[in-house]
Amino acid sequence: MDQLKFVIEPSEAETMAKTLGLSVFQLLRTLAKSAQKITHIPISNFPVGAAGLTSDGRIFLGVNLEFPGLPLHHSVHAEQFLVANLSFHHPAHVKTVVISAYPCGHCRQFLQEIRGAPEIQILVPQNEDQASDKTNNGNNPQSENDYFRPLSYFLPHRFGPDDLLHNDVPLLLESHDNFLVIADEMSAEEGNLCNGFFNFEQNKLVLAALEAANKSHAPYSGCPSGVALMDVDGKVYKGSYMESAAYNPSLGPAQAAVVAYVVATGGGDGGFDKIVAAVLVEKEGAVVRQGDTVR
Ligand SMILES: [Zn+2]
Repeated sequence: MDQLKFVIEPSEAETMAKTLGLSVFQLLRTLAKSAQKITHIPISNFPVGAAGLTSDGRIFLGVNLEFPGLPLHHSVHAEQFLVANLSFHHPAHVKTVVISAYPCGHCRQFLQEIRGAPEIQILVPQNEDQASDKTNNGNNPQSENDYFRPLSYFLPHRFGPDDLLHNDVPLLLESHDNFLVIADEMSAEEGNLCNGFFNFEQNKLVLAALEAANKSHAPYSGCPSGVALMDVDGKVYKGSYMESAAYNPSLGPAQAAVVAYVVATGGGDGGFDKIVAAVLVEKEGAVVRQGDTVR
């Protein structure tokens, strides 16, 4: 397979499946496995790949990311990466997800933020023995579809947005506007907080971070935030903070922006050394603040 892309258009997916002689479900399985080669896992060396099919026929990939020198809870799991990736691309409804390993409890919970989460179909490919002997009573499966299970199978009796929010509140992957604006006096005051140079060129970073903050899913704390990163070539990557009803599985805005960087560069280009500037936008006086973590 050629170099992997993190977003595959329906026509590309069709061509890919045809070329490889696979069904779309088999293609998802192949892509989840291939995605394991483009993870960033210097701590665990445990690669996880995920591939999600949306109702419009696009395929999105996710991989796990780890950051040496930071606490483990700053890691990004492949399923979270996949959801962040979906959020960047005007997502259609995600129907089916193939993951190279069973989703951890943290990810089973994080996925609850998507509307209709219990019906998302999950496949964790079995090894050949399991596939032929245990899972299907010794019969060869008619299709990959045989092994999909709804998310509600992996997390029954869920705690989720329904427990805390009215059902008209937008969920993750639905359109948000948090109506944040940059205070007029910010530029003058920013010198106190900025740990580098603040110049006109980086102003576009402020606007990008503001846009990300306005798309942030933070209904539980009411503290939306967004991060914009810039690389050595001046390209900008935006990430929005995404909260979980269970709080702990929430995905920070810096992590989401790193996901955007990895998606745009087709795998992160070997590391994060090319990221040279970052801006965080969050609410003044917010009870949940991201500043220390983002730095
Ligand atoms: Zn996980």
